[in-house]
Amino acid sequence: MTLPDVLTLIKEYKPEADTSLLELAYEFAAEAHKGQMRKNGEEYIQHCLATAYRLAKIHMDEATIIAGMLHDILDETSVSVDELKKNFGPDVTQLVVGVSKLGNLKYRGIERYAEDLRKMFVSIAQDIRIILIKFADRYHNLETLSALPRDKQYRIAREVLEIYCPIADRLGIWYMKSKLEDLAFPYVYVDEFYLLYVSSGPILKGKEEYIERLKDSVEEKLREHGIQPILFERRVKSLYSVHKKMMKKGLPSIEGIYDITALRVVVPTVADCYAVLGIIHQYWRPLPKRIKDYIAQPKANNYRALHTTVFCEKGEIVEFQIQTPEMHAQAKFGIAAHWHYDESHKRSRQITKNLDWLQEIVSVWKDKDATADESFSAVTLDLFKNRIFVFTPKGDIINLAEDATSIDFAYAIHSDIGRRCAGAKINNQLQPLSTRLHSGDVVEIMIEKNRKSPSPAWLEFAKTPLARTKIRLQLRDNLL
Ligand code: MN
Repeated sequence: MTLPDVLTLIKEYKPEADTSLLELAYEFAAEAHKGQMRKNGEEYIQHCLATAYRLAKIHMDEATIIAGMLHDILDETSVSVDELKKNFGPDVTQLVVGVSKLGNLKYRGIERYAEDLRKMFVSIAQDIRIILIKFADRYHNLETLSALPRDKQYRIAREVLEIYCPIADRLGIWYMKSKLEDLAFPYVYVDEFYLLYVSSGPILKGKEEYIERLKDSVEEKLREHGIQPILFERRVKSLYSVHKKMMKKGLPSIEGIYDITALRVVVPTVADCYAVLGIIHQYWRPLPKRIKDYIAQPKANNYRALHTTVFCEKGEIVEFQIQTPEMHAQAKFGIAAHWHYDESHKRSRQITKNLDWLQEIVSVWKDKDATADESFSAVTLDLFKNRIFVFTPKGDIINLAEDATSIDFAYAIHSDIGRRCAGAKINNQLQPLSTRLHSGDVVEIMIEKNRKSPSPAWLEFAKTPLARTKIRLQLRDNLL
């Protein structure tokens, strides 16, 4: 990767871009990181270049790409915030400071992550571009992950799968979500990945060839009906999404997953989209319940398209995704597409304002007095599926697995609170410690000050690995 690679890419989507400051940032970063090496033996500047390049891939503005080039400069070199400001101005500096604030904490599972998540959402609300830089940074970390020891590989890849990918999904940045999943999946679920990779290979290859041929016949049919398609694209689901879907539906193999690969058709107008749907159904019979109108009813992340799955020639089942160019860009780059497509929405703050769900999370997380509130659970809690968000009486949020109980909650706060736990009030009602918690519950732990040891019985209903490990350790220590 070289600087010209990045510059060429930018010129492709923004010919009028002024890249002189980026060139300066490159020289500045190369000088500051001089002599530093990445674990894979490359010079550090390669990581900076790769981060900038990835941001250009999602068509970001110059300031974000410059900040990507400089994103590690505060943490890894002696360059100061003032120096940054003097050389690159307040906008770039704010982005770099934002990335630095997110920090590089060790990921130990989402149970311990509440504070980091809070930081992350507050930063997203401040300026969405900060998290985009983080995505690009993680992207290159994953690309070079094989150089790290196994335990680090696992930790970094898991954080990406459990935190970054759901956020990218919620922001609608399919490009980042699916690529990060593909890169991280093999490191977290080694066996599952290998099995799926081997078994899906031939199926994907067969589908690929089939769709390639189908494309020509679809194009012909559309033209016959007076529609001029702009683009055909074959979409392949990330293997991690396939894996998740198989788990969720209890499928033994990928045979039952029809949208593992789909044919995307891009046509000029919304009216054309509906016309294409009609034409496809005229020739091929749709599968029941597989027609989705995400144009009339967009997904929560603003994804819009018409989907239908049909029986094509030779009994092949194919999913079609029909979109206008604008929907297509939005689906690929999500929130990032606005910089490219809608100049009037250039201000990222304004874009962020349109994300209702994000505003709600942030308002709740900023407001320490917040308590259980219906709107909170309705909109925000499905971000991390299978997770619940529970409150302390002070309004701090504790994020737990969905089957967690009060004892998990107590240990999530502190292992001493867990050990001395004598009872729990859930929404002001005294409840058994084994009671399963729900999102939005306010939980107060009663403490027995002199209690030395947890009860072995707790192991019967403690669900989180954190609580179970601590209970076992404390029981053992008490025997010694
Ligand atoms: Mn980095």
